[in-house]
Amino acid sequence: MPRNQTGSHAAVKASALLSLGLALLAASTAAQEVIIDNLDPQFTSQLAPGSEGGVVVLMYHGLDGSFGYDPADFQAQMQYLADNGYATWTMDQLLGWIETGTPEPVSPTVVLTFDDNYLTVYSVAYPTLQSHGFVGINFTHTAYVGVVTSYDHCDWIEISAMESAGVLFTESHSRTHPDLTTLSDSSLNTELAGSRSAIETNIPGKTCRHLAYPYGAYDGRVITFAETAGYETAVTTVPGVVTRSTPLMEIGRYGVNPDTPMSTFISTVSNASGGGGVEWTSSTSEPEHWSSDYQYAPGGTAGAVATWVFTPSQSGEWAIDVWYTDHSNRATNAPYAVNHADGTTVYRVDQTSGGGAWNTLGSHMFHQGNYYSVQLTADDADGFVIADAIRLRWVSSVPAGLVILGAE
Ligand SMILES: [Zn+2]
Repeated sequence: MPRNQTGSHAAVKASALLSLGLALLAASTAAQEVIIDNLDPQFTSQLAPGSEGGVVVLMYHGLDGSFGYDPADFQAQMQYLADNGYATWTMDQLLGWIETGTPEPVSPTVVLTFDDNYLTVYSVAYPTLQSHGFVGINFTHTAYVGVVTSYDHCDWIEISAMESAGVLFTESHSRTHPDLTTLSDSSLNTELAGSRSAIETNIPGKTCRHLAYPYGAYDGRVITFAETAGYETAVTTVPGVVTRSTPLMEIGRYGVNPDTPMSTFISTVSNASGGGGVEWTSSTSEPEHWSSDYQYAPGGTAGAVATWVFTPSQSGEWAIDVWYTDHSNRATNAPYAVNHADGTTVYRVDQTSGGGAWNTLGSHMFHQGNYYSVQLTADDADGFVIADAIRLRWVSSVPAGLVILGAE
């Protein structure tokens, strides 16, 4: 929750601080407005409490007979996901969801990861994923790219082809696949930074942000070194559903092995939630939306909340305007709660009309640099509630006779 600054600001008479007041006034004369759309990072919309989505990350290795794996089993698993409405995410999407809530898992979502860069990623996984419009991650130990050991490994040409096709994204599995917890500081850094650098050098335009710990082995020192080397997430081999509370450097995975029966696969991926009708859904059905789309939640969905957060660039009075798309199925009482310097004010908006335009809620005092919010809920709304954009409009620096001091 944004901090509520109720009662915390100091107001003094202008006569006591005349020079400061004049300085603030001079700095505040420029007209300003700030628009926050539902696509902006300052906007989030959340599921109802107790029904937070969970994402399942799957871990594969080799996919053909040389690993005891029947490629037909893998193809059947992917077909199951496609037939049952599963979505697949990249690690960047998983990171974005954990950090900001966007994107949301609007249908059951899995992340398909493949360790050790075996050639079967290219020969089996790549065409299968591509046929379903799925994406996956190829966790690669970069010292073995294109090298034949007991098994063949993809080379940089194959890796780049999968990457540029937007199907399999290569991320780090260290350089030589050691147990990272046993290494000296300098070796640990070489394994982590070297692998990342090799990936970024060989895949033009690539930023490598994600790591899979070899053998799933890690500790606090490994995490610290990995973060310093530029990794933003790391996956383990500990099974567990990923939620927005999951630590970014300890993302659990479920292993899928040659002997994993279809029934076990189905029960594993059924841990992925999403959908269920309580989250905010993106739509473009009504054309008069701000920017690319808007989001909606049905009236009566307890706990569903959409939030726009902002930090005013200067202290004073700002007007809050809201934008939505109207329709006869909308709420006549959509509640916008404006959190401002003097408390919270709830405005009820009739969204059955007046859409496709800025509608003014009211004007309030805000302190420069502090965090405030506008929150729209659906609990007691009598129709669909629409979250699209809000606008802050600068009104005036200070009320007559008062100077507002800056953020405390
Ligand atoms: Zn491995």
